[in-house]
Amino acid sequence: MSPEEFRRHGRQVVDWIADYLAEVESHPVRSRAEPGEVRRALPDAAPEHGEPFEAVLADVERIILPGLTHWQHPSFFGYFPANTSGPAILGDLLSAGLGVQGMMWVTSPACTELETVVVDWLAGLLGLPGRFRTDGPGGGVIQDSASSASLIALLAALHRASGGRVAAEGLRGRHTLYVSSQTHSALEKAARIAGLGSANVRVVDVDPGTLAMDPAALRALLARDRAEGAVPAMVCATVGTTATTAVDPVAAIGEVCREHGVWLHVDAAYAGVAAICPELRGLNDGVAEYADSYATNPHKWLLTTFDCGLLWVGDRAPLLGALSVLPEFLRNAASAGGSVVDYRDWQVPLGRRFRALKLWAVLRWYGAEGLRAHIRAGVALAAELADRVAADPEFVLFERPRLGLVCFRPAWPGLPAEDADRATLRLMETLNAGGALFLTHARAGGRVVLRMAIGGTATERRHVEQAWDHVRREHSALKVLMR
Ligand code: PLP
Repeated sequence: MSPEEFRRHGRQVVDWIADYLAEVESHPVRSRAEPGEVRRALPDAAPEHGEPFEAVLADVERIILPGLTHWQHPSFFGYFPANTSGPAILGDLLSAGLGVQGMMWVTSPACTELETVVVDWLAGLLGLPGRFRTDGPGGGVIQDSASSASLIALLAALHRASGGRVAAEGLRGRHTLYVSSQTHSALEKAARIAGLGSANVRVVDVDPGTLAMDPAALRALLARDRAEGAVPAMVCATVGTTATTAVDPVAAIGEVCREHGVWLHVDAAYAGVAAICPELRGLNDGVAEYADSYATNPHKWLLTTFDCGLLWVGDRAPLLGALSVLPEFLRNAASAGGSVVDYRDWQVPLGRRFRALKLWAVLRWYGAEGLRAHIRAGVALAAELADRVAADPEFVLFERPRLGLVCFRPAWPGLPAEDADRATLRLMETLNAGGALFLTHARAGGRVVLRMAIGGTATERRHVEQAWDHVRREHSALKVLMR
C-alpha cells in the first residue's frame, strides 16, 4: 500500500469509525449471530490475489458488524465497561502507524520513557504511594490485562518467598496463594501458570453481608498452612470485585500479610481508576501502607481502548529477579549501564506495543478533570438507578452501589429460591435477546442477581432510564407468562 493509498483508505476507515460510533445505537446491543454464522460467510482459504481495501470494508459492514456485540453501545451494561474514546483510538492508530517495538529502552527510547511518564502521572492522579513511582524503589508498567498483572505479581511474590531460588530451582515445597470466593478467576489461572496448581489456591472466607474478605479468617488460614509446612507466597485483595464491587479491607489484610511476610497484591482492575476522584480515594485505604503491588485497568472505565492494564510494584527488585533473562542478542550498552528501564523484564512476552500513546492521548485530551467527570457521571447514574430499584416493591436491590455497578433481582414472591433464580436468568435472556440493552448476572448472597454496569463513554441518563423501563416491562410480561 503506497502512502497515497494509505492516506485514502485511512480516511475511509476513520470516517467509517466516526459513523459507527455516531450510529452505534441503531444496532442491537448483543449480536444475533448463530454459532458458525460468521465463519460460514467467509472463504475457506486466504485470497491468492490481493483485493482492494474497499472489499475489506464492505465485508466488515456485511459480515463482521452483524457478528458483533456492541460494547460501545450506550445501552451496553454487561460485565464491566470497556470504554474507548476518540483520543484512545487515535493514540492506538499512531502506535500501529509507528510500528515500533518497545521491548527495551534501546529499541525505541520514547516508547519506554513515555510509558514511564504516563504510569507515574497516573500513580500521582490516583494518589498511589511514592514508592510505586519509577524514581522510587518500585515503578509501574502497562500490561495487556489485569490477568497478566496478577500473574506478574505472583511471579515476583514467588521469587521473594523462595529467597530468589525459584528461578533456578523451580518451586520447592508447597507455595500457597490466598484469595476469596469473590476474587477474579484470573488469580486461579495465574496460580496454574506459575506452577502452584489450583489446589494451592486457598480460599479465605468472606463476610456474608459485604462479600469482603475476612482478615481474621485469612490470619487463621495462613497460620494453619504455615504450621503444616506451606510457604505462603501472596495474598490477593480485591478493590471492587467482579460480581458486586465488594472492597476487601486492604489495611487489615495488609497487617496479616506483614505479620507473615507475605506479598500483598491489590487487584483493583475495575474500581482502581475511580480513585482519580478525591472523594472516592477511600477505596484505596491501606494500599499506601501495605500493598506490594497494585493493578487497575484504564481499559475498563478510563476511556482507554483495550488493552491497557497498569501494574505498579513497591519494589522492582523481586519482579526483575523473577523475569529478567538476558540472552546475548539482547545485550546493549544502555541496558548494561543500568540507567534505563527495559520493560521486557516486567512482563511475560519479550515484544511490546507502544500502548502508552493511547493513555497519553486520553490523559491529555480529557485532562484529570475530564476523567473525573466521566467517573462521577457513572457513579451518579448508578445511584439514581439504585434509587429506582429500591423504590420498586417488585425488585430487590442487592446493596447501595459504591461505584457504577448496580446489582438487583426481581423479588418473585412465592417462588422457591431456585425457581426464582431460573426466572431471573430467563428475564436476562429475554432482555438481551431483545437487543435494546445488554446486562449480565452474578451470584451474590447465594442468589442470582442482574448486574448493570454503568460507565460507557456514550451512556447518558436516558439510556439508563430506558433500560430500567425495559427491565420492568419485560419482568411484568414474564410474570404474566409464568402464571
Ligand atoms: N480482576 C477483576 C476484579 C476484574 O473485574 C477483572 C475483569 O473484569 C479482571 C481482574 C480481569 O481483567 P482483564 O480482562 O484485564 O484480565
